[in-house]
Amino acid sequence: MQQDALQAGRTGRAGALLKIDLKALRNNYRLLRGKLGNAQCGAAVKADAYGLGAIRVSRALVEEGCRHLFVAHLEEAITLRPHVAEHVAIYVMHGSPVGYEAEFLEHRCIPVLNSREQIAGWRKLAEANNKQLPAIIQLDTGMSRMGLSAQEVQAWLADPDFIRGISLQYLMSHLACAENQQHPMNRQQLQAFTALRAQLPACGASLANSSGIFLGPDFHFDLARPGAALYGVAPVAGHDNPMQAVAHLQGRIIQTREIAAGTGVGYSLTWRCTRPSRIATVAVGYADGWLRSLSNRGVAHIGGIAAPMVGNVSMDTITLDVSDVPLAQLYPGALVDLISATNGVDQVAERAATIGYEILTSLGLRFEREYLD
Ligand SMILES: *Cc1c(COP(=O)(O)O)cnc(C)c1O
Repeated sequence: MQQDALQAGRTGRAGALLKIDLKALRNNYRLLRGKLGNAQCGAAVKADAYGLGAIRVSRALVEEGCRHLFVAHLEEAITLRPHVAEHVAIYVMHGSPVGYEAEFLEHRCIPVLNSREQIAGWRKLAEANNKQLPAIIQLDTGMSRMGLSAQEVQAWLADPDFIRGISLQYLMSHLACAENQQHPMNRQQLQAFTALRAQLPACGASLANSSGIFLGPDFHFDLARPGAALYGVAPVAGHDNPMQAVAHLQGRIIQTREIAAGTGVGYSLTWRCTRPSRIATVAVGYADGWLRSLSNRGVAHIGGIAAPMVGNVSMDTITLDVSDVPLAQLYPGALVDLISATNGVDQVAERAATIGYEILTSLGLRFEREYLD
């Protein structure tokens, strides 16, 4: 048993093993593309593809036919650019920081222009280069975060030179409440987007994130930008998750101990056992993105048996009550399931009082990573 776990092609040097299932990622992409009909299925690969590795993830998605990748920062786009084919567009959702416009040309990435300043900067670069430069323009349809307001769109309509030199690829907007299918804001934003588009130059349109795809064809337009659902996060609140799990996290047991009834565990002794107990210390902590809010709330599984996390999460360790787990499974180096098919990112998130997005994007850099494809 011990031998098997240690010999499964892993070094054992790291405190945890993060398995990233690219087959599941590919299946998720196909499922979303299937729902989209004729609309293109792009992908949000910002934040290192939600912590799962933007280069590996992007390559797999491009093999599946994805031609539109979205990151947040210019820096992310520059890192990714050499790793994906030139015919794949990389869009920077934050647009250009002032003064960095020329780097978009140099690195062949496309800005999402969110403000009049960003549009002016891109127009100036087009003028200086004497050519049409591609861009997406974002419109704010109610989230009040990014994009031109309805008033700024009026200024655009009044100024024939507003996008001079800009080859407008898509108009885009972002939904604030899409995971809640009943929310009236979804239709309101759809109407606002449609009304603004009708006044603006004809071009492609992009509205839906993961959850937006599940709101139906009215929300699909020409290009969708799913992120979370590709990585296994449930796209529709209160419904079964149709996506396959992509991230599987297993931590390694460092040591186990027997403690007498009444003994405290961990910093500040926030948990005390009421019966004689066996405690396993596992080499994952909040420095690995195992959020401290999981203290006394999280659960691990060992051979399918639940082992509650007891005591506070430390920087580098958690402690589990493994009293109900057969001794044969509790040896130094044994792997315990922290994110698994039975206890997915959304369940972990619920226990941590957050969302699956934050669990994924917090995943640490100290894990040994294994890509399955
Ligand atoms: C992050 C992001 C997406 C992807 O959203 P998911 O909910 O992860 O599918 C799409 N569009 C914009 C503007 C974003 O910021």
